[in-house]
Amino acid sequence: MSYDERTFVMVKPDGVQRGLIGEIISRFEQRGLKLVGAKALQLDDERAKTHYSEHEGKPFFEGLIEFITSGPVFAMVWEGKDATRQVRRMVGATDPAEAAPGTIRGDYGLDLGRNVIHASDHEDEGANEDEIAVFFDDAELLDYEQATDEWRYE
Ligand code: UDP
Repeated sequence: MSYDERTFVMVKPDGVQRGLIGEIISRFEQRGLKLVGAKALQLDDERAKTHYSEHEGKPFFEGLIEFITSGPVFAMVWEGKDATRQVRRMVGATDPAEAAPGTIRGDYGLDLGRNVIHASDHEDEGANEDEIAVFFDDAELLDYEQATDEWRYE
């Protein structure tokens, strides 16, 4: 486990429309994760299908692509100790109806097809880097110290 692990997070079109970008950023900031990249964009079909390629052929795939391309999303890269696993724990179960209260999906969602946020769940860091690369060029990702780093990590 590295202290500078990077993980990809995206507020989906429902989260953007509902004005949840700020709330979601605040949660990760308060947890102590470091924002190293962020942008608003609207996905085209090609990028959406690349991002969700593991689900191609599944019954929900076409609907998912239609939804994720239907409006702006807010893409981010967060860095920190065990970032992928910790962000997934904060995001909660895929179906908001089953997600624990206190998680983002458990607090802001009710329906599987409108679950507010995406977060990487790759176990290996290489696959995470590949996912980030679908959205960000290297030059768009920052490498910086925060004066509070030593107050976050022993
Ligand atoms: N999804 C859906 N119907 C399903 C399963 C998944 O609409 O039956 C959508 C949902 O938006 C989910 C996304 O497809 O977030 C990707 O599914 P995955 O199993 O990878 O869940 P996640 O990693 O987002 O928790």
